[in-house]
Amino acid sequence: RAQATRLYSAGDPLTILASDSLKETLHNSSTAWLVEFYSSWCGHCIQYSPTWKALAGDVKDWDQGIKLGVLDCAFEKNFDICKEFGIHFYPTFRFFKAHSTTFDVGKTYGGADRELQTMRQLMVSFLQNHSREEWPSKCPQLEPSGSADVLAQLGQKAEEYTAIIIEEEDSYVGREVILDLMKYEGVTVKRALGSEKLLLEKLGIAALPSAYLLEPSGKHGLMNVEKRLRFFFSSYLKLLPGVRRKQALSARALGPARMSGSAVAVVWKDFDKSKVYMADLESGLHYLLRVELASHQTLEGEELKTFKDFVTVVAKLFPGRQSVVKLLETLLEWLVSLPLERIPYDAILDLVNNKMRISGMFLSDQLQWVGCQGSRPELRGYPCSLWTLFHALTVQAAQRPDALANTGLEEDPQAVLQTMRRYVHTFFGCQECGRHFEEMAKESLDQVKSLQEAVLWLWRKHNQVNNRLAGALSDDPHFPKTQWPTPNLCPACHEEKDGLHVWNEEKVFHFLMDYYGAANISPKYTL
Ligand code: FAD
Repeated sequence: RAQATRLYSAGDPLTILASDSLKETLHNSSTAWLVEFYSSWCGHCIQYSPTWKALAGDVKDWDQGIKLGVLDCAFEKNFDICKEFGIHFYPTFRFFKAHSTTFDVGKTYGGADRELQTMRQLMVSFLQNHSREEWPSKCPQLEPSGSADVLAQLGQKAEEYTAIIIEEEDSYVGREVILDLMKYEGVTVKRALGSEKLLLEKLGIAALPSAYLLEPSGKHGLMNVEKRLRFFFSSYLKLLPGVRRKQALSARALGPARMSGSAVAVVWKDFDKSKVYMADLESGLHYLLRVELASHQTLEGEELKTFKDFVTVVAKLFPGRQSVVKLLETLLEWLVSLPLERIPYDAILDLVNNKMRISGMFLSDQLQWVGCQGSRPELRGYPCSLWTLFHALTVQAAQRPDALANTGLEEDPQAVLQTMRRYVHTFFGCQECGRHFEEMAKESLDQVKSLQEAVLWLWRKHNQVNNRLAGALSDDPHFPKTQWPTPNLCPACHEEKDGLHVWNEEKVFHFLMDYYGAANISPKYTL
């Protein structure tokens, strides 16, 4: 089995097929499929696998219309099925229609161009070729709307947003945005063609592609995006108020969302997504020091070392109020001065809880989530604040490289990340998260050679986690996990290369330095 999945692993956003699952998965499926039959010994397949994985990630949200799969024909158990499907060369790409019959061996794509963008466009065209009867039931229609249809909707009140992508006939952007938004509610995406001159004139459209937005109130106008690219359109729509990822039934059963004004309502705090909130950082520290760590009766050995290093890093780098920094510094001095090899956690709690008011040291013991508030009590909160704290600390280390002088951590650009890694591994209450984080750290943390790379490493890994968790039950429908920063926060961070979204990492770095910098931390709502 290990051999069968050598180029692809369970963590990739695609389905690994095998002889015993191929037919039952593909035949009579409610969605279409594109399958790469490969051979793990074929050099070209090995070289192509990163493109295939990138494609799978790019179209992950299209899976109610078309899914991606792989099957390794070099795996002994798959010899017969590859023969039955007539696979002679590797890789062979086969499309299977939704609701296909048991005799269907798929339609081969034999073109020489296997670039990601070409494959993605082929997926769209293949999907569109389904007849009405074959159409995957959860997939929205991809045909363009006519002027009359669109114009009739102008100025009408509606339950949700409608976005219209107006484009050239050979453009794929409209269909791609429709598919990108398939799993979201609160917005319907349509497309119309630039050949509809009347429409262009009425909507005041001068360049293609363009996107036009009809709001539920009846207001309408051109969608204001920095770059007229698929990623910008899709991202803009996902972030509209009231637009959210559709949730599985079990998630809905957890109860109504607080933001929708239910009986469990807690006062909602308005906040600005372009800011970091001190209330989140302080609430996170409070929870970490008084709840998470307090479940340990004593600290000794490696645990104590991890705790000391963690306190060192926060005491030196926490970009917070004087009263909190003073508390952390006092805690650090106390820990350093104690020759003990074993500390009862109650002693630490005494210091954190009691002494503080005396000399201007104070950390509120109220949880006050702002940028980290969730639409239900069990969502967001502490883990969100921990990420926020970690990002703020890496940014502080890059902005103030001397801050860790004389702590024993000053020479190491990985010091902050390694300390967080050990904290998460040793103390973070979500053990599964700790395990995943440890895997990511093992894989690439040793490649971090500067404080700038440390900032970017954490950003990249956080996005990797966001990607894995998008659509999971822990995903707050009002704050869907997304690749961050979104184009509205940092348009310059996003570019497109060969049809694929790419980051401008230099711009991302500068954005992170500003966003998590002390000047961007709002004191609003602190207690
Ligand atoms: P969060 O992901 O917590 O993000 C908080 C804020 O950080 C966002 O609102 C945004 O403003 C900003 N942000 C988002 N992405 C980035 C980025 N790439 N760079 C910089 N800033 C960003 N949950 C699991 O179910 N499984 C796991 O394996 C798992 N692992 C975790 C590992 C760690 C180290 C941590 C701290 C948490 C982990 N969690 C895991 C929890 C999960 O990642 C979220 O924190 C939680 O679901 C709350 O999500 P959120 O919507 O508040 O956003």
